[in-house]
Amino acid sequence: MPNTVKGAIERGRATVEDVLEVGRNTVEDVLKVGRNTVEEVIHVGRNTVEEVIQVGRNTVESARRVGQGTMQAAVLHGREDVRIEQVPVPEAAPGELIVRVGAALTCGTDLKVFRRGYHARMIVPPALFGHELAGTVVQAGEGVEGFATDARVVALNSAPCGECYYCARGQENLCDDLLFNNGAYAEFIRIPARIVAKNTLMVPDHVPLEHAALTEPLACAVHGFEDSRPQPGDTVAVIGGGPLGLMMVHVASLAGYQVIAIVKHNGQVEAARQLGAAHVVQAPTIRKAIRETRALTPKDRGVDIAIEAVGLPEAWEEAVEMVRKGGTVNFFGGCAAATRVSLDTNRIHYSDITLRATFHHTPAICRKALDLISSGRFQAGAFITGHAHLYELNRVFEKLMNRSTEIKTAIVP
Ligand SMILES: [Zn+2]
Ligand SMILES: [Zn+2]
Repeated sequence: MPNTVKGAIERGRATVEDVLEVGRNTVEDVLKVGRNTVEEVIHVGRNTVEEVIQVGRNTVESARRVGQGTMQAAVLHGREDVRIEQVPVPEAAPGELIVRVGAALTCGTDLKVFRRGYHARMIVPPALFGHELAGTVVQAGEGVEGFATDARVVALNSAPCGECYYCARGQENLCDDLLFNNGAYAEFIRIPARIVAKNTLMVPDHVPLEHAALTEPLACAVHGFEDSRPQPGDTVAVIGGGPLGLMMVHVASLAGYQVIAIVKHNGQVEAARQLGAAHVVQAPTIRKAIRETRALTPKDRGVDIAIEAVGLPEAWEEAVEMVRKGGTVNFFGGCAAATRVSLDTNRIHYSDITLRATFHHTPAICRKALDLISSGRFQAGAFITGHAHLYELNRVFEKLMNRSTEIKTAIVP
């Protein structure tokens, strides 16, 4: 009996201790789970709140875009400072067009502007940026004839006044009141009435918009080539393997001339050959380039025409040393402001050398350029070596500054 009581007490005590222990653990577990649960709830709550704020912000942002009719566009603020910003979608005033940009092409001029932060004649910041484009008409202002909604067009970057001394003489590229348009790196662009009337062209259905966008630079090349007054059988040297140098090589070879391309970078050698150069000179110094180019002509007499497409004073001087007696030099590449060249007067006079310096284009030449693109003979695709979205524009320019082998990048908004 006493054993039984004693045993019962002991079992009771052990049971109570077990219960206490289990109870203590359970309470600790509950506290722990509770603590974790509370932390998780706080965490989830915080994320949810942040997400709600973000979604709200995006919704407000897009509501504002739609409400105000805004679009994304590249805005040049200064040196190497281009920002993609929300700006209002332009509205067509009488005579104007609003074009949805299909493709805008990078250009050496834009790269210069990006580096310098401005262009004396073409662009003063802050300003919309980019000038080689083709796209589709989304709105035609009052009084516009010949361009309906959805028409595929290439709108040039400028138009002459048609009334000044120079326009009257057919030198519209020198117009006293040349009107420039920028803003191609955007979803939409406004085309001013004068450009609509004089320098906006319909793109044939079989021509991709990004090819049609080459009309502007090609017009410069065609103008520069024709202005050099080539004669049948001439040998033409083109100094420079950038986009315009290569275009000049192609234009001259398509016209049936023997072309010597003088390039600097390895990647340009193959491109010049593909575009029709009979010879490619890649010399480490200007002296050697002159000697090697002359060596490609009978008795080292020099080329009939030398076209400088670099835009450096030393290359201008180089061009003068490459031509034969009676030859023509075209200083086609524009140099930085206030630069000068030193030329041998005796050589120019006693060798009867013609010096020309072709700038820009005229409406008639722009039509010729688009015809050449539409003909299928011009290898438009060879000039567009990359594609990028508008928001990648800064990266694209940085790449172009680092002397990449890219010729032109099509910016697709
Ligand atoms: Zn250009
Ligand atoms: Zn004019």
